[in-house]
Amino acid sequence: MPILEKVLIANRGEIALRVLRACKELDIQTVAVHSKADRELKHVLLADEAVCIGPAPSTESYLNVPAIISAAEVTRATAIHPGYGFLAENADFADQVEKSGFIFIGPTANVIRLMGDKVSAIQAMKEAGVPTVPGSDGPITDNNELTLEIARRIGYPIIVKAAAGGGGRGMRVVHEEAALLSSIQVTQSEAAAAFGSDVVYLEKFLQKPRHVEIQVIADGQGNAIHLGDRDCSLQRRHQKILEEAPAPGIPQHIRDQVTEACVKACIDIGYRGAGTFEFLYEDEGFYFIEMNTRVQVEHPVTEMITGFDIVKEQLRIASGLPLSARQSDIQFRGHAFECRINAEDPKTFLPCPGKVTTFHAPGGLGVRVDSHLYDGYTVPPYYDSLIAKIICHGEDRPLALARMRQALDELVVEGIRTNTPLHRELVRDQAFKTGGVSIHYLEKRLQE
Ligand code: ADP
Repeated sequence: MPILEKVLIANRGEIALRVLRACKELDIQTVAVHSKADRELKHVLLADEAVCIGPAPSTESYLNVPAIISAAEVTRATAIHPGYGFLAENADFADQVEKSGFIFIGPTANVIRLMGDKVSAIQAMKEAGVPTVPGSDGPITDNNELTLEIARRIGYPIIVKAAAGGGGRGMRVVHEEAALLSSIQVTQSEAAAAFGSDVVYLEKFLQKPRHVEIQVIADGQGNAIHLGDRDCSLQRRHQKILEEAPAPGIPQHIRDQVTEACVKACIDIGYRGAGTFEFLYEDEGFYFIEMNTRVQVEHPVTEMITGFDIVKEQLRIASGLPLSARQSDIQFRGHAFECRINAEDPKTFLPCPGKVTTFHAPGGLGVRVDSHLYDGYTVPPYYDSLIAKIICHGEDRPLALARMRQALDELVVEGIRTNTPLHRELVRDQAFKTGGVSIHYLEKRLQE
């Protein structure tokens, strides 16, 4: 008997293929759901069953909850894997899935809700002993005197953030007291319009942080482990471009403290499944900013240094099995990088959909390619521009980076433009080679 009979994959592109591969290894039947624009997706062709759930726009297909639930009903699926993006962090969707009699492959709706609100997430983390950014410790009220006093205690610069914000939106940096109250007001009305909630809070604005995150996995039965950290500081407009594991140059005792706190937090909040604690890291301090309650794009770098299959474990946990590993079973070996290859112009960053005439993936020892591309595949214009992830592992950081340089040189994508030239430059960049650049490094470099 397979651990789950049949899994419906409620996503597209490379992550849908990633989930399908994990299901195949575990002998689980697969259902692909797709929009009208996605009939030719690789995983759709490989799945045991495929159901068209609507027209091209994602609001009518990949975000169409009734269509997804009825696809699960007609195919008699056991469980639904949401991937990342789309409905993956939508607590109402998780609720709907479970109420309709299917297993949601992820945490409970209540935990998604708790972590989806940044104010409640920060509160829960503080209680669990996870270090957070100095801030207002709760929402801003209409008592202006109190707000100004809180801000003085935090010290400028300050960042005003929407509790319901996401995707790098709903934030505003304030450099001096004179601008605080008006900035709060603007952020409140923007947040109300964009996220349906005008709750905002304050945080100290860190000047040159790195983005370092901790991967965890828990079974919801009282067991949780961490799979180490990743550095995702190379970002453009808050979008990660190139990631690595482990984060370079972090003293081991500081890493041990934060990973231990994350594991404890998982147990405290009754976490189930794979998750990521995102931190800003500055001057040897970790500061929690948010938790992602799903598998992440960059999970493969962690898999490469641990040999632990995160997606297979998600499926096992969803079937009710306890964690398959204890913390002491997890061994960290070597270093890994991931380059996100996007269908976009390397200079203007404008999306560049179209027909891929030739796709040639790199290979060799320590090279992994997660991609749904093939010769003749047409990248549709409606969705995220991620078309491939090149992941390289080596016994140490220089070897992993050397393999990435070679892999990028071998990669051929013809017919559309991609950001491969940018990656080829980045892996030869002196500061990046040294390691530990801040989240502002890439944007500054692009400006020059
Ligand atoms: P989102 O949910 O929109 O991704 P986050 O809270 O994760 O929002 O923050 C997104 C990004 O904004 C961070 O990766 C970082 O670049 C910047 N940021 C957020 N909070 C701070 C802070 N306190 N100091 C400096 N930069 C911050």
